[in-house]
Amino acid sequence: MKNGSFRLAIGLCTTIFMGMNTVNAAPEGEMKVTLLGTGTPIVNINRFGMSTLVEAGNQKLLFDVGRGAVIRLHQIQVPLRDINSIFFTHMHSDHLTGFPDLYASAPLPTDDGHSKTPISIYGPVGIDNFARGIEKAFTANNEIRLKGGETNEPATKISDHFLPQKGGVVYDKDGVKVTAFLVDHGHVEPAYGFRIDYAGHAVVLSGDTTYSSNLVKQAKGVDLLVHSLSIGSRELEKAYPDYVQHFYSYLANTEKLGQVLNETKPKDAVISHISLYSKGNIGRASEKEILSRVSENYKGKFLLGQDLMSFVINDKGVTRVAYDPNIRQFEPIKQN
Ligand SMILES: [Zn+2]
Repeated sequence: MKNGSFRLAIGLCTTIFMGMNTVNAAPEGEMKVTLLGTGTPIVNINRFGMSTLVEAGNQKLLFDVGRGAVIRLHQIQVPLRDINSIFFTHMHSDHLTGFPDLYASAPLPTDDGHSKTPISIYGPVGIDNFARGIEKAFTANNEIRLKGGETNEPATKISDHFLPQKGGVVYDKDGVKVTAFLVDHGHVEPAYGFRIDYAGHAVVLSGDTTYSSNLVKQAKGVDLLVHSLSIGSRELEKAYPDYVQHFYSYLANTEKLGQVLNETKPKDAVISHISLYSKGNIGRASEKEILSRVSENYKGKFLLGQDLMSFVINDKGVTRVAYDPNIRQFEPIKQN
């Protein structure tokens, strides 16, 4: 999509004025899902760390905050102060490392900043240590910025909440409901997926998982399923089977993903959190290989996620909105 049409899409959002800050709310009855980062801990210039933004009604909810999530929010001009709550699927680093940046940047007196409230996070066991650790790590920064008038006391705090051990509804506000459910990420316990319901529509985010019957239950017939994938090329699987099988034991490979898609039949599906393995002189699987191997197992509608791709979900169905390659290169704030 060309830059102009992307801006038009942003312009179509309703603008609500809240004091000196503005919040772009999704139109009534519509959900918008944006893949901020589709990558993993494996460093990749095109795939930032895992993070998904869900906009529904007057809510903006963030699921995982991987590497570079703040940059991606800036690129789509969603101010950090507008994020209502953050949900972490599990405590693997690639779902967390973008959070300290968000925490430290949200209160600053910048275009993206001006947060005046504690940042609200939900996560599994360990989220309390994570929250207190970050507050502690930024103690000196916060003291300096308080002295300089660049932050405020409430915004230096993190309001952390445990996800229920066995899952359940964790958030229900203004018609937006978030349900956490346990998934199977092997030795990583607990690990959760999330289902977001709004205005008769539903989106399921798998989190990191191999085949999970809980996920299948939650995702049957949903509007959009965002699912993770791990893949080594056929060549890599042959050369280093043990290396690749280790990852396949706790993250869905193309066969497991195909099974989930066949059993859930979502209206649309997108692969995000794409673990692309390489070793020695054997490179990562190409996008062509990924698509062809998933297609061997699933004949329904799906696509390979890209950072900043989004999906609009309303009574007309699910509309894919392609990412604009220019936007990844383009600083959105005007220069004088
Ligand atoms: Zn993980």
